[in-house]
Amino acid sequence: MDTSNLELVKRCIKENTAAIFIETPSNPMMFVSDIEEISKLAKKVNALLIVDNTFLSPYFQKPISLGADIVVHSGTKYLCGHNDVIAGFLITGSNIPKETTRIELIYKTEGAILSPFDSWLMIRSIKTLGVRMEKQQENALIVAKWLKSVPTVKEVYYVGLPEHVGYEINKKQALGSGGMISFRVTNKEIAQNVLSKVKLIYYAESLGGVETLITYPISQTHAESPKYLLEKLGVDNCLLRLSIGIENVEDIIIDLEQALREV
Ligand SMILES: *Cc1c(COP(=O)(O)O)cnc(C)c1O
Repeated sequence: MDTSNLELVKRCIKENTAAIFIETPSNPMMFVSDIEEISKLAKKVNALLIVDNTFLSPYFQKPISLGADIVVHSGTKYLCGHNDVIAGFLITGSNIPKETTRIELIYKTEGAILSPFDSWLMIRSIKTLGVRMEKQQENALIVAKWLKSVPTVKEVYYVGLPEHVGYEINKKQALGSGGMISFRVTNKEIAQNVLSKVKLIYYAESLGGVETLITYPISQTHAESPKYLLEKLGVDNCLLRLSIGIENVEDIIIDLEQALREV
């Protein structure tokens, strides 16, 4: 469901709703959901608000201070930042001690705990989270603006562009726009060519690392999604997603420029 549409969220909440799960900005269309407003709706029926905060990381967005009860992160992405650890984080607010105890019991008894080496890598990575996020964001804004000038690019979805539909809400609730960009090219041949022509940029499915990655949502992240949902979201064979890294931004643009040329 598109939780950036508050009216729709309102209509879906029932007396027995236990929790509302949102992701903002969302993958891959960068829809922005209003965390504070949705948390108010959740509180009315005593439902928990769970926020997937992977795209902006705690450096740019702090959902608990906006009324969320639980925050989840793919630690594999920005928190790790180097594409070398698979990890997840779950943070609970101090307002839900009962649920927190239950979650602690589950992870202790089920054994889904990070290994010592992966934990060490995570701790080391988080020390540079701020500088990485700043650089990725700086690069992303330059690349997003540049993409808008490319003849073979039809649409650019980046939360940091003032014309993006979620720009104002994101600005209200987050300290930044992050490093994720989706864009639509004019035809599927160009989209598929880009994937084989990039040299510096890796064609890979993950995100949030220091290297720039390009993803083809229709055959990668969203390959398992039902067709009606893809159509509704706007995920088609012309859509590409970029996770911008910390490289020299000119190198990223030079690579995209040669890859996006008309075939
Ligand atoms: C990758 C991702 C996940 C899943 O995380 P893993 O670390 O791959 O298990 C969940 N939410 C978002 C937004 C993601 O990008």
